[in-house]
Amino acid sequence: MKILLFGARGKVGSVLGPRLEEAGHAVVGVERGDEPALSGHDAAVDFTRPDAVRANVEACLGAGVPCVVGTTGLGPAELASFDKVASEKGVACFVAPNFALGAVLMMRFAAEAGRHFERAEIVELHDEAKVDAPSGTARATAQALPGEPPIHSVRLPGLVAHQEVLFGGPGELLTIRHDTLSREAFVPGVLLALERLPTLPRGITVGLEALLT
Ligand code: NAP
Repeated sequence: MKILLFGARGKVGSVLGPRLEEAGHAVVGVERGDEPALSGHDAAVDFTRPDAVRANVEACLGAGVPCVVGTTGLGPAELASFDKVASEKGVACFVAPNFALGAVLMMRFAAEAGRHFERAEIVELHDEAKVDAPSGTARATAQALPGEPPIHSVRLPGLVAHQEVLFGGPGELLTIRHDTLSREAFVPGVLLALERLPTLPRGITVGLEALLT
């Protein structure tokens, strides 16, 4: 596939670009201020910033280029807009708050535990440069649990992306934890999304779990 990679020099993009090329894709890196020709590309991938992603993705979808979106901090208005533009243009837009397989399984296991425990709290820990809080993964986890439990956000140097979901009951504590140890963890999920993009329904699809059934 010919792929536009928005945020190619970022922490995720700089790991992702070479891996996409190793997998046989042709990658054009796009940075802030670039104005790439959009047509002629099979897909766009965006790992930029919450204040940049909407314009990038809407421009690509508007040009009929399907998108894989990893940038977090998207609200319902952005998602609804992506769905509208993608539907109008007859292309797919895939958005995932977390492309790491283990993180998606953590959310699935937490949802199962939430059926049996009345009280839960979520602690999400990320690199200090992450601008949005709470993380998209923590919000998605909370939404899948009864009563939407509180989320505690930690931002410190040295961290990558980590999350604990704690379930408390009489005399016991269940902790479900996932650690992203390097940004390589996001590569297989992005490759899977690109592979599935041509067969996804037009409009928006949210969450890697939708591809893991
Ligand atoms: P980062 O290191 O700050 O990289 C972002 C890159 O995007 C920077 O090179 C930045 O350039 C560039 N950029 C900013 N505005 C742009 C624009 N309008 N067009 C093109 N490029 C632009 O951040 P990161 O750690 O790679 O993370 C990127 C995003 O992905 C964040 O929202 C993060 O939360 C999210 N993320 C998602 C997942 C997932 O699995 N879904 C995993 C990890 C991270 P400047 O330096 O000039 O601003």
